[in-house]
Amino acid sequence: MDMTNITELNILAQERYSQLKSKKLSINMARGRPSTKQLDLSSALLTLPWSCENQDTDYRNYGGKRCTPEAQQLMASIMECEPDEVLVEGSSSLALMHDNLVFSFLKGNPDSERPWQQEESIAFLCPVPGYDFHFQMCESYGIRMIPITLNDDGPDMAEVERQVASDSSIKGIWCVPKYSNPTGCTYSADVVRRLASMPTAAKDFRIIWDNAYAIHAINDEQDNLISILDECRQAGYSNRPLVFSSTSKITFPGAGLAAMASSPTNLAWFFDQTSKRSIQPDRLNQLRHTQLFPDREALKHHMQQHRALIRPRFEIVESTLTSILGPSKLASWTQPKGGYFISLYVPSGCARRTIQLAHDAGVELTPAGAAFPYGQDPQDSHIRIAPTSIDLDEIKLASEVLAYAAIIAAGESITGG
Ligand code: PMP
Repeated sequence: MDMTNITELNILAQERYSQLKSKKLSINMARGRPSTKQLDLSSALLTLPWSCENQDTDYRNYGGKRCTPEAQQLMASIMECEPDEVLVEGSSSLALMHDNLVFSFLKGNPDSERPWQQEESIAFLCPVPGYDFHFQMCESYGIRMIPITLNDDGPDMAEVERQVASDSSIKGIWCVPKYSNPTGCTYSADVVRRLASMPTAAKDFRIIWDNAYAIHAINDEQDNLISILDECRQAGYSNRPLVFSSTSKITFPGAGLAAMASSPTNLAWFFDQTSKRSIQPDRLNQLRHTQLFPDREALKHHMQQHRALIRPRFEIVESTLTSILGPSKLASWTQPKGGYFISLYVPSGCARRTIQLAHDAGVELTPAGAAFPYGQDPQDSHIRIAPTSIDLDEIKLASEVLAYAAIIAAGESITGG
C-alpha cells in the first residue's frame, strides 16, 4: 500500500473519528435483530388466534397431531418442499438443530452404527465465516470443527469432498445456504449437487441445512437455491439433509414457528425422540401464524414490507463504506441480495483493533473471530455488520465510525503504532 496515501487518509480518519466519538454514540450493530418497525408488522399475532378449533381438533387441549396441517403448509411454502416433509415444532430452529445433534450423540441417527458418544472423535465441517451459534454448539459438545473456506457460491467443494471421503469421524457440515450468515452468499446449483452426491466415509453423515433466510431477499428478486432434499434423494442419499427454518425473522424472533424437513426415516426418528420430550408443541402459535398468513399472497406482502424497511439500511452501509473506504482499496465487503448481514474484510491483523476502536466510539459490533470456530479468525480480518435494527439516522454514523476505525487500525498496523 502507498504509505503517503495511508498517512493522509489516516490523518483525515483520525479527525473524523474524534468528531464522531465526541457525539457519545450508543449504537448496537452486533446482532441481526429485526427493527421495532419490522416487529410491528406482526403485531396482529398478539391478539390472534381468534378461533382455536377445527372440525376434529380443539387445539387448546392435548390430543391430535403435533402440527396443524396449515402450519405444515406454511412452513413447506417457506422451505420450498412438500407439507408432509415438514415437522413444525416449537419456536426455535436452533433448538431443533441442537436436538438433532443431542439425539445423535445419545442414540445415533438412523444410519449410525452406534451412538456418536461412543465414537472416538466426532467432527463437523464449518464453512467460514459462519454462524457463531453453530460453532458454539459444536464447542459445547466437544465436536471438533474443521474450517472450510466459504466462497461466493458456497463452501470450497474440492476441500469438502476431499475431507469427507477419507475421514469417517466427519459426521456433518453446517450450511446456511441462502443469504448466509454472515457473508450473504447463496449456494450455487453446482455446490448443492456436489454436497448431495459426494461420497462420505461416514455412513451417517448429515448436512445441517439451516435455511434461516429462505425468503429474506433485500431486492425484489430472490436468489435461486435448488432443493437439497430433491438433490439428495436423486443421488441416493435421502437421509443426508436435515433442513431447518423458522419465522424468527418473519414474525417474532424466538416466538415464531420453527420447522425441520427431511426424509420420512429421519422425521420418524426425530418424532420418536421429541414426542417423549414433550406431549405437544404450542399449536396455538401455529394457528396464530396461519391466521396471520392465510395464503402465499399474505406472506409475500409481509416480506415486501420487511424489505422496504431493510433495504435502505443496507444501502446506507454500502454507500458509506464505498465513499470512505472505496478509494483506498483498503478493505472489501460483501453486497448481499438478502439476509441480515454484510461481511467486511479489513487488512489482516486489523479486525480486533477496528472493533475496539468502534466500541470506544460507541458502536458495538459482533466480537472479532465470532464467525470462526473457537472464536479464532486466523487472519483477524473479518467483521460482521448487522444493520437491520438501527434507526436510519444512526446507520450512517455507525458505518462512518466503522470505516474510519478500519483506516486507523490499518494505519497503526503499518506504522506499528
Ligand atoms: N440460524 C441462523 C443462520 C440465524 O442467523 C439465526 C438467527 N439469527 C438462527 C438460526 C436462529 O433461529 P431461531 O430463532 O429459529 O432459533
